[in-house]
Amino acid sequence: MLSEVAGALGAFADLPLAFQLPFVGLFAGLVGSFLNVCIWRIPRGESIVFPRSHCPNCNHVLEVPDLVPVLSYVFLRGRCRHCGTPFSPRYMLVELTLVCIWCAALAWFGLSWAFATCAVGSAVLLGTAGVAQMSRSMRRGAGGFTFMEILLAMTLFAIFISPFLNVLRTGWMGASKNREYLIAYNLAREHLEELRVMPARNLRSDWEIFVHGKRLTDNIFLDEFGPLARWGQNEKVFYENFSDVLTEVSQLPESVQAKFERNYKRFYGRDYKLYPREYDGFRRVTRIKDVTDPSTPGLALQKVTVTVTINTKLTHHRSLEVSTIVSDRGL
Ligand SMILES: [Zn+2]
Repeated sequence: MLSEVAGALGAFADLPLAFQLPFVGLFAGLVGSFLNVCIWRIPRGESIVFPRSHCPNCNHVLEVPDLVPVLSYVFLRGRCRHCGTPFSPRYMLVELTLVCIWCAALAWFGLSWAFATCAVGSAVLLGTAGVAQMSRSMRRGAGGFTFMEILLAMTLFAIFISPFLNVLRTGWMGASKNREYLIAYNLAREHLEELRVMPARNLRSDWEIFVHGKRLTDNIFLDEFGPLARWGQNEKVFYENFSDVLTEVSQLPESVQAKFERNYKRFYGRDYKLYPREYDGFRRVTRIKDVTDPSTPGLALQKVTVTVTINTKLTHHRSLEVSTIVSDRGL
């Protein structure tokens, strides 16, 4: 049962926002309608479940056409369908406020825990504020103007702020994504600079250096029986998993990490330093390929390609490739 609910929610979460909004809006209206019942009955010590809602003047039980959130109030011009007694606009405003807040939260967060928190929080706040205000006005025998003002302010706030929230959100996300691409580009450039100072004939792909080194000892990087053993089985799997950007979180098992760092120092001539935590979502691999140039057939050329893959909360599986051609004479 629970898994079916989760499955249905998952399917609903995959729908475009335009399909989700009407459902969430309607549900918010129904919750708002229930809050109205609470706001009226709790201060009077009545049950919030029974009896069914009715007109306080003519006692007609309210039917479906009277109970559609917001719309009923608008179409019936805020009056009882039977006796014409005006209802307080509070009913409509409570529902409208909740609809606006829930829809804004959905547009802002998507169907998520953040949205659920906003939805439940706004309903509880609105209900509590309404009940408190109703109790106060009953004791004083005065109208609840303050509460109406609060409602109006909340509604206007939700209506006016929602488009800006969206702009802010996309702006922030865009800036953060740009920052991630910049980090990826710098990682690639940084490694190319490092390779620049090496003699071209010493350039090796990561696969060769760390798994099948011809000049270095074979398997210096891999632990043959450990969790990384399968990396050494095929080049494709290796490049899908390996990275020479390691952080405290993503570093290798201790003994393998030690081998890696030893080997790194021997090959690149400098100590390997772990990257800061913010590099967690970045992977970097280097491939070297022999290429030929038909116009200079005698010259040995190599193509150096550094690929940085970003896989963070914001950016999923995007790769950035920087290549350069080198000859024996260096980069
Ligand atoms: Zn009536």
